[in-house]
Amino acid sequence: MMNRIYLDHAATTPVSPRVLEAMLPFFCECWGNASAVYATGREARKAVENARKQTAQAIGAQPQEILFTSGGTESDNLAIRGAANALRHKGRHIITTAIEHHAVLNTCKTLEKEGFEVTYLQPDPTGRIAPESLVPALREDTILVSVMTANNEIGTLQPIRELAETAKAHGALFHTDAVQAVGAVPVDVEETGVDLLSLSAHKFYGPKGAGALYVRRGTRLDPVLTGGKQERGLRGGTENVPAIVGLGAAIGEAAANLGKNADMTAALRDELERRILSRMKGIRVNGLTGGRLPNNSSLTFENVDGEALLLRLDLAGVAASAGSACTSGSLESSHVLHAIGLSEAEARGTLRLTVGTDNTREEIARAADLVVSLAEELRSMFGR
Ligand code: PLP
Repeated sequence: MMNRIYLDHAATTPVSPRVLEAMLPFFCECWGNASAVYATGREARKAVENARKQTAQAIGAQPQEILFTSGGTESDNLAIRGAANALRHKGRHIITTAIEHHAVLNTCKTLEKEGFEVTYLQPDPTGRIAPESLVPALREDTILVSVMTANNEIGTLQPIRELAETAKAHGALFHTDAVQAVGAVPVDVEETGVDLLSLSAHKFYGPKGAGALYVRRGTRLDPVLTGGKQERGLRGGTENVPAIVGLGAAIGEAAANLGKNADMTAALRDELERRILSRMKGIRVNGLTGGRLPNNSSLTFENVDGEALLLRLDLAGVAASAGSACTSGSLESSHVLHAIGLSEAEARGTLRLTVGTDNTREEIARAADLVVSLAEELRSMFGR
């Protein structure tokens, strides 16, 4: 079989062999219910609490401020819906941005139907949300501000410390969806002062279906899933011990190698862009080039259909994305690309390539050759 080249690490990552090794004993050897009082249960509990410590340590939090969830989507739901419900007596206004992941946007849309008002801040053409744009949006009844740390499509990093400071000075809670940022760039809840932060293990070489929500001590939240007393009553349900152990191991590994991995992926990403841009005209690099995720490259090709390019790349053995993972496969073009000012045709001509620590320079060279030759071919069919 042809060696496939995976350039879609923003969609998901393979599980690291060391993470898998850490998880394996918790399927058939140490399979107890972490809430049980007998020894098998206590062993599982110990592993869950160890993962909580690892997670807290990686983001500068205290272990008791970490809640385990089923992933980024659930963490975003719990943060936004949980805060909105707990604070609805104080106010019903929420501020977020036009470029959030659907886990945030659709939660806000549902809350709008339930009587909340939501303001959507607009980014500048690089995808950045200026802290000054938050000031006039804040109202007496604003209870929560939610701005993602890094965008999943164009990689732009937001000035989270300044945004959180502005929101909190006004008395509103601040949530950040850091699903793409954790494991890729330094994330520290004390440094930024955020109240709530979402993360997801499968974005940093951990298992799918495992996530966490950081909840600053003293922050009021209502549960979204009602059930047992697990996770301080904020997320009932028997803990998925192997997945939680995997999250802990993966975040520990990511934190220990953060600088090295960021340098490595940035070098591969830069090489990929250099090879493509030096050989083909009419390409725009999206995002804040001086402040984006080290592994992200979002390229808009003039007169090329991104979906067609994606399919041809797949046939040639390269996995990429024509938008975010959640919009690919549907015909809807990306809300993020529109929000930064791209036309419908430009949004449809956009390819997202996200590299990982498992890519090699040889793969990057081969992928760049294929992107250029297939995009040229498609462009010539446009009559150019
Ligand atoms: N938020 C962002 C920014 C994401 O990129 C994703 C996944 O692509 C999510 C949330 C959802 O995370 P999960 O797949 O763990 O539910």
